[in-house]
Amino acid sequence: MTTKQHKIRQGWLENTRKIHSPHFDARPCAEDISLLVIHYISLPPEEFGGGYIDDFFCGKLDPNEHPYFAEIYQIRVSAHCLIERTGRITQYVGFNERAWHAGLSMFQGREKCNDFSIGIELEGSNEQPFTDEQYAALIKLTRDIMRHYPQITRDRIVGHNDIAPGRKIDPGQYFDWQRYLSAV
Ligand SMILES: [Zn+2]
Repeated sequence: MTTKQHKIRQGWLENTRKIHSPHFDARPCAEDISLLVIHYISLPPEEFGGGYIDDFFCGKLDPNEHPYFAEIYQIRVSAHCLIERTGRITQYVGFNERAWHAGLSMFQGREKCNDFSIGIELEGSNEQPFTDEQYAALIKLTRDIMRHYPQITRDRIVGHNDIAPGRKIDPGQYFDWQRYLSAV
């Protein structure tokens, strides 16, 4: 693993794989980037490495490739970054823009968490532990984000389940919060 810092320039990580998603818009308050939301995703569910998450976040998922894809291919969502099982990071939306990851949500009484948050997806599920490579990449990425967006403090890093309780469970039972938060 490289320990080099990611520089963030105009909201984009340098030296990082980028795939531009059309699923974003402007933040209502550009200066307010003050929450980090951790998610998981796998496509198809419980399968890893197929590249379908890239397609999904870009609105290009082929409904004929899998029965599940036919249910979700028209949903317009995104995240700022994905960390695959290998630890590879892909950025889809600039951090200064609003990605569409949180949905109906509330943090400390404030709704619409997409407005003021950064969303990171881990390739994973509620059935399988995340990989060491993912923890290493997430810890490093989080430090880089916190350095660049100092309103994101450790107590403003949450799971999707924390801001959409009853509706979402990610990042799920296998995400080791202590391992993660003790390192950032
Ligand atoms: Zn989520």
